[in-house]
Amino acid sequence: MMTRAFELDASDPLSDYRQRFTLPDGVIYLDGNSLGALPTATPAAMARVVENEWGEGLIRSWNDADWFEMGGRIGAKIAPLIGAQPDEVIACDTVSVNLFKLISAALAMRPGRKVILSEPGNFPTDIYMIEGLERQGLAVQRLASRGRITEALDDDVALLMLTHAHYKTGELFDMAAMTKAAHDAGALVLWDLSHSTGAMPVDLNGVDADFATGCGYKYLCGGPGAPAFAYVAERHHAGLAQPLTGWFGHARPFAFSDEYEAAPGIEQLQCGTSPILGLAALEVGVDLIAEIGVDRLYAKSQALSEFFLECMAAHGMSLELVSPSQSDERGSQLSFRHENAYGLCQALIARGVIGDFRDPDILRLGFAPAYLRFEDMAEAARHLAEVFAGEEWRREEFNRRAAVT
Ligand SMILES: *Cc1c(COP(=O)(O)O)cnc(C)c1O
Repeated sequence: MMTRAFELDASDPLSDYRQRFTLPDGVIYLDGNSLGALPTATPAAMARVVENEWGEGLIRSWNDADWFEMGGRIGAKIAPLIGAQPDEVIACDTVSVNLFKLISAALAMRPGRKVILSEPGNFPTDIYMIEGLERQGLAVQRLASRGRITEALDDDVALLMLTHAHYKTGELFDMAAMTKAAHDAGALVLWDLSHSTGAMPVDLNGVDADFATGCGYKYLCGGPGAPAFAYVAERHHAGLAQPLTGWFGHARPFAFSDEYEAAPGIEQLQCGTSPILGLAALEVGVDLIAEIGVDRLYAKSQALSEFFLECMAAHGMSLELVSPSQSDERGSQLSFRHENAYGLCQALIARGVIGDFRDPDILRLGFAPAYLRFEDMAEAARHLAEVFAGEEWRREEFNRRAAVT
């Protein structure tokens, strides 16, 4: 398989982009879906912001270095990756906080309806954020499994909130069909794009989506805890009312007025002062991913995961695949079920193959297409086969749980 891998790498139009990332020697990084790799340009960009803009410019940099516009500027760069207009997206806060603002905004736009519909097993924070609003008496949570969502859309539902690519299995929702079903029932739609943005094209305008949010530190390579982004369709800007009415969402923050007046556009989604250092790192990642382009990234991600499965088959491996077997029905990952997925994952990490474990029995391998090679696929499959042949996953040292898995 190695010869084939080298051939595929030689004809890969994205192969040069690997040099634009700093990856440690001896590591095959299959967890870019959890924390994206470091773009080589990030440290210098950060140093410039810290030393020049902060150190020298001090407070003047809010104007001189355009810090004030940064969230909107980066949002406009994320927009084409997700099929949005530049003024519909802003980089701010975390996905969790953006969910809170957008769910609340949706509830305000659907008076008389309180149900937020999602699926069981959605990413925990998505469900927890509904729960928090429920505790305040502001929302009612309803969870329906994939096949049952359409029938659960009755006229109590204010918002259908789903994650496009499932974090555990990579299974995709048909965004167009689900959005239409929700609209037909008089509900709004909020898409969590955390596992799609930067790995595959998304067309928010094309499917007529109302709201979306997504992660900056996964495929966008913005660094640990990078700011997230939020999208609101332009048709909703005039009627938008989100509850975190901080001064950065004010129409004129520096008027220092006693009355809150929401900014007319997407800036209303901002709450407190923008995290400039985090945004500076995020911008480098977004620029790089945008330069490569999401269509090419998605094509390569599908080719990588298909090749990985071929390599596993060549080693005679048959782990239970919980991701869809058709590459166009999944995001940029493959997840396998195993009774000791934790030990399996640790044994791989000890060999330099970094994937992750998702409770209780899932080994998750992410294929970030911007910096992985076909060679890495062949090598990772070989390590997996060896871990199995030697039953390394049984070893005691691989079965002690750390806090972050
Ligand atoms: C990673 C991820 C998040 C992260 O939320 P934060 O509040 O930014 O930590 C949310 N939703 C999904 C689906 C994710 O995969």
